[in-house]
Amino acid sequence: MKLKSILLGAVLLGASGTTLANECEATIDSNDMMQFDKSEMTIPASCDEFTVTLTHSGKLPAASMGHNWVMSTKADMQAIATDGMSAGLDNNYIKPGDERVIAHTKVIGGGEKDSVTFDVSGLSADESYAFFCSFPGHISMMKGTVIVK
Ligand code: ZN
Repeated sequence: MKLKSILLGAVLLGASGTTLANECEATIDSNDMMQFDKSEMTIPASCDEFTVTLTHSGKLPAASMGHNWVMSTKADMQAIATDGMSAGLDNNYIKPGDERVIAHTKVIGGGEKDSVTFDVSGLSADESYAFFCSFPGHISMMKGTVIVK
């Protein structure tokens, strides 16, 4: 009990100065129903880097129900997904060298997970960002909004 209150004090002390590390990371789950468990994610502009961990709570393999987490501007998302369709699973359904992609995980299957860490400094609170899955056909159901603030 005493240790717990000391730890809590340390956490509160840390919060007063800089952004807590755990505010600079998020986990999003995907499943065999072609769904993400979030439709909106927030990236604090105060973070230097942000880490997204994608999990897949389903059972189907990546070849048939694979998912990735891709971030781009809202304006670029559909074109990235369209170009990524022919890139294949080996390229995580992302056209190699696609500079419109801000960050992406690899394509995972049921029971797997993958993380991606990216710089926040280049993001703007005035821009509209989105996340989606670029597995062919999934973007219609698997997409959401990324808010930078
Ligand atoms: Zn998917």
